[in-house]
Amino acid sequence: MLTHYVTVPAKGNRRIKLNIYPGHYATSHAHVDNYFSMTEMRTDCVMAEEAASEFVKQFRYTPVDTVISLEYTQIIGAFVAKELSSPGRDINSGADIHVVTPQINSNNQLMFPSDMQPYVTDKNVLLILSTVSTGRSLARAAECVRYYGGKLAGICAIFSAIDESGGIPIQAIFHRSDLASYNSWRSDECPMCKAGRKIDGLVTTGGYTEI
Ligand SMILES: [Zn+2]
Repeated sequence: MLTHYVTVPAKGNRRIKLNIYPGHYATSHAHVDNYFSMTEMRTDCVMAEEAASEFVKQFRYTPVDTVISLEYTQIIGAFVAKELSSPGRDINSGADIHVVTPQINSNNQLMFPSDMQPYVTDKNVLLILSTVSTGRSLARAAECVRYYGGKLAGICAIFSAIDESGGIPIQAIFHRSDLASYNSWRSDECPMCKAGRKIDGLVTTGGYTEI
């Protein structure tokens, strides 16, 4: 079990908190010395709503038809859609905003079933992700939106290490500067492995699994 952690409040809203667990973790492509747990923010309805409020601030004057929630951000996505369409919410007030999540096919591409495609084609789409590190997953998501003929209206992430993608700014709650002590290495260059330290667990988009 993870026990030792540091809590980092978001600069713009101290009710949003990220728990960071120092350790020795393997991801799909690297070894890292901290695990940023998004689980509370993605599952606690109070914090998910706070996170949504932070995102919505940036889109008061941007038309949004559809929210694409990736990486287990569906609860945040639902609050984003609700708040954007609330009365008095400027441009999107009264809008019927859908929240959708694509499937991943065997070629690792994102795809929408036929009955979800109308919510993307010719629609203004807001993307929500948990983590943007290199921007690779984001590029795959943007490609998916383009493929189905959607218009990318904005990008939101709980944490992003980059500021923009394809000319679109990334609205992040936590930035690289907030989490400065984070390190990652190729597994064959990991200093903790070289020091003989066992791996504590595996970190995936969904969370942490002890091994
Ligand atoms: Zn290692």
